[in-house]
Amino acid sequence: MQAEPLEILEQYWGFTSFRPKQSDIIYAVMLGQDTLALMPTGGGKSLCFQVPALAKEGICVVISPLVALMKDQVDRLKSMDVRAAYITAAQSRKEIDHLLDSAIYGNMKFLYVSPERLKSELFIERFKKMPVNLIAVDEAHCISQWGHDFRPAYREISGIREHHPNVPIIAVTASATPEVADDIVEQLELNAPARFESSMVRKNLNYVVLDEVEPLGRLLRACKRIGGSGIVYAPTRKQVRATAEFLNSHGIQAGYYHAGIDAATKEKLQQDWLKNKFSVMVATNAFGMGIDKPDVRFVVHIQPPQNLENYVQEAGRAGRDGDESWAILMWNTKMVERLTSQLHDRFSPKDQVKDTYHQLNSFFQIAFAAGLNEQFTFDLSAFSKQYDRHPRDVYFDIETLEMSGYLSMSEGAMLPSRVMFQMQAQELYNFQVRNEQHDAFIRLLLRTYGGLFETYSRIDEHFLARKTGWSTGQVRETLARLDNMQVLSYRPRTEHPTITFLTGRQQKENLIIPPEAYEERIERSVSRWEAMMRYLHHDGCRSHFVATYFGDEESALCGVCDWCRKEKIVAYDVRELIKESLLSAPTDLSGLIDQHSEVPREEIITQLNRSMDDGEVSRDEEDLLHWTEERN
Ligand code: ADP
Ligand code: MG
Repeated sequence: MQAEPLEILEQYWGFTSFRPKQSDIIYAVMLGQDTLALMPTGGGKSLCFQVPALAKEGICVVISPLVALMKDQVDRLKSMDVRAAYITAAQSRKEIDHLLDSAIYGNMKFLYVSPERLKSELFIERFKKMPVNLIAVDEAHCISQWGHDFRPAYREISGIREHHPNVPIIAVTASATPEVADDIVEQLELNAPARFESSMVRKNLNYVVLDEVEPLGRLLRACKRIGGSGIVYAPTRKQVRATAEFLNSHGIQAGYYHAGIDAATKEKLQQDWLKNKFSVMVATNAFGMGIDKPDVRFVVHIQPPQNLENYVQEAGRAGRDGDESWAILMWNTKMVERLTSQLHDRFSPKDQVKDTYHQLNSFFQIAFAAGLNEQFTFDLSAFSKQYDRHPRDVYFDIETLEMSGYLSMSEGAMLPSRVMFQMQAQELYNFQVRNEQHDAFIRLLLRTYGGLFETYSRIDEHFLARKTGWSTGQVRETLARLDNMQVLSYRPRTEHPTITFLTGRQQKENLIIPPEAYEERIERSVSRWEAMMRYLHHDGCRSHFVATYFGDEESALCGVCDWCRKEKIVAYDVRELIKESLLSAPTDLSGLIDQHSEVPREEIITQLNRSMDDGEVSRDEEDLLHWTEERN
């Protein structure tokens, strides 16, 4: 039994119609076709796999690169009363076990999985038994090493398919150049896929590029002139803070956000900004993934990001509601020179990469030849301090080692503290009777959180501390003790990524760093940065440049970017222009072209041919064109 997509859309989301391309994509998926969909940020890609999955029996397995994205989508699905969950590398075996069981027997509709999980026995054995109706690959560009966010673990995806050979795969992304799109098809082994590309041009987004030696002053004027809600991207934590302080001292309410801020504060900041309690969020690029605020009026970068892909993604967070909004990018020659040399500094020499490998092994106390498949929580800042390294360089080295196949690093996942009882209710009761000192606390847990016997529930140590009058330290100790006694399983909050070694520890001379993990990767970073610079210097429509970069060759001039405005090119609808002219007086082709010198000649001819095919324009013996309005 399949439900109608439109009914699903109305029933769950309360939306009345699909956006362009969404319904085509959904129908392709429902027909069981492998599908690749490219749509701009905010275009509504999640719906393209969520609707078909809801229309069918069974469960949709979604592969997603970031916990923040998974969490966001799962929360949203749950708020619509859809059963959904996510598993990441940071959860315990017990917890994952439990979730996988629910995915098989529990009528779960969506299971979000981080790519690192896919190859584990634990996952595969259960995956085989799941009633899978669709495999969805979100942010599919991560599979391609030509892309800007390559995640080696994405390569595992095609491997899981053999267990459900008849289940279609849908891959979605906002940021694929033509070669990345082809690579996605190849790497995922998509079978004669239906391909959909919706225009990368966002008609309401006004791109502006400013050569500016005083970015802050310019920023302040922009915030005041445009008004409303905005995001300002700055490169470092220090600059993020300084910029927010500057704005605040000049009457713009701004908050700041970066990876170093603790999770609770981040959450609060985000919520306050979403509710417009302050207008401008100044942030590093750690901010924005999974954030869906419709009324962001401007996104300002006070410095160019490392590549055009990131830029477009970040700038695209403005104007999701379709109203006029601004994407402003500032640069100056000195800044660009500095960024270019920084880019080259980021690539540590191959020998350094090898040293990092050994330092990691000593850090985790792994002996030679040992360590295969071992997993460690990785504290990057402790490591960097111990070996006197810059975290950014360590990160580069780890990525290199990852791409060379020696280890895999999962993203640093912020998971809240969780608890689940390991005893049945009766057994627990007996325990409480025998251990009176724990009775009150256990009762508090039972009273405060539901479902602790069936599943891991999120708990809050601060809240429990307030209720018991203990310190949060005491609450944690008590939970740890109860965990030890196997009364419950307590998973304290984690924020660190995990590193898994994929081979035993190697001797230095045996360590092989292949070109695709090093030289080619460096080359690509450089060429992506060069594209960013071409954008800065581009003498032409900005939207057109972006669209062309992403393979959309036919985009019209946007009429709203800084270049179009300077050239007084207004956004136009060629068909309307032709119609207007011809209705007022029939004319020949050259007359028509003369009347509209603002429109490129080819665009007029193309549209004219189309209109003649459609029968709405006819040509008489004297070559005069008439608007006949015969189109149905
Ligand atoms: P993407 O993944 O393409 O960046 P999302 O899937 O997160 O975008 O969707 C962006 C926003 O657009 C969400 O708030 C979503 O609810 C909304 N949206 C998607 N499709 C529709 C639709 N057909 N009608 C109205 N809103 C929609
Ligand atoms: Mg998305």
